[in-house]
Amino acid sequence: MMLPWAAAALAVLSACPSAYAMPPLYQPGDLDNNNGTANGTADGNSTSTDPMAACKLPAHINVWLSSGFAPNFFDCVPSQGTVQGFMFFVDFPDARANTTEVSPKGIYDSIVPAANDWIKTSSYGQVSLDIAADTSKFHRMPAATSSYGWESMTSEMHAQYVQDALDAYLEDQALPKAIDVLYVMAPPSASGFPNSLTTAFNPKTRPKSAGGEVMVARRAVTMGIDVYDPSHGYRVLDHETGHTMCLADYYPTDRTNSLGYFVAGFSVMGDSTQPGPDHFAWDKWRMGWLPDMAVECVAVSDMMMTTRHILTPLEQTPESGKTQAVVIAVSDTKALVAEARTRNGVDDQFCGPGVLLYTVDTQLSSGNGPIRVLNNTPDVYTCGGYPANRAPLSFEEGRSRSLTAEEFSVTVSLTDQVGMDQFIIEVKRI
Ligand SMILES: [Zn+2]
Repeated sequence: MMLPWAAAALAVLSACPSAYAMPPLYQPGDLDNNNGTANGTADGNSTSTDPMAACKLPAHINVWLSSGFAPNFFDCVPSQGTVQGFMFFVDFPDARANTTEVSPKGIYDSIVPAANDWIKTSSYGQVSLDIAADTSKFHRMPAATSSYGWESMTSEMHAQYVQDALDAYLEDQALPKAIDVLYVMAPPSASGFPNSLTTAFNPKTRPKSAGGEVMVARRAVTMGIDVYDPSHGYRVLDHETGHTMCLADYYPTDRTNSLGYFVAGFSVMGDSTQPGPDHFAWDKWRMGWLPDMAVECVAVSDMMMTTRHILTPLEQTPESGKTQAVVIAVSDTKALVAEARTRNGVDDQFCGPGVLLYTVDTQLSSGNGPIRVLNNTPDVYTCGGYPANRAPLSFEEGRSRSLTAEEFSVTVSLTDQVGMDQFIIEVKRI
């Protein structure tokens, strides 16, 4: 989860967010996006000579975590290379860690290496987590869990929590310098923090702290007890790390529907308990994990006839000559994306292989469905927790081989398949 930052008024979770305006941690020159961030490299300029420009939908600065390409509006953590992190552990006067049952090192060992393996696999080896940790003890927070107001937490209240944690830690330790992400880990007994949160601001120590106000990291992640729930587990850390790279929440953050309401079980940024949690090809492209050569761009306005594409599964490492996403742009804010999902990589438990179709809308903010999986397969719960986990086009009996996206005036059909290595689709303007 990621609370939006409101520059002035309190921003509760359900409030309409506005772009935050905290100062960047690094100099502006460091933020040029050849380092690869979720906000990508496209310039969004209609005069660009980039042949992919029509499909690199620009992000919108006034849309919270807009899922497009843009300059690094929000000082995100680079999405390529090594993420430098630091983790320490806290407990509370009303939720003390039971140190006969849990230890910081035990928690670290059960979460961090697995989370690192996960993101390494999803990113084709382009991201790794280097998370140092103080595992000497649980640092006691100055206030009870109940005092932090989880139920109505705002970004300002979350900042208070982070600063309290830093105070507790700094009583007897020094912080490392220049890290990307600070991870604050609560113990399993901290039921007052059911979920994890990522800041939208650069965490700083308090002015009164020893050494004065110091920028600590680009982002802070406060881990709740969801990370101890086996159905989420270490993937919570991968979800929150996705936020540090400015990926949006793909579940409805107003919680009026299920976590899989928009994207079923198809992204770790949606419902991370599901068997197909790999990041979408759209996000892998934005983060620089999929190169342009792995993407075929179709502009609906230029379509004169049916186009044909051979999709290689998303879970395979990109190779020259292989296509892993077809992006069909209908405007400069909306696109339809096709990608093949199979039972490999971080999707190794996946049970609905085929060609997945989803829409992207860069004008929809985090938690409001910027990505939506399209599905016209009848509802049958045979794959994870959502019928739409079987949405991918497939020749399997009872599944759909073709889908019309009326809004895009396009029909996408699966016409042939070579094992689980090639999925041939046709895109037809209707
Ligand atoms: Zn989230």
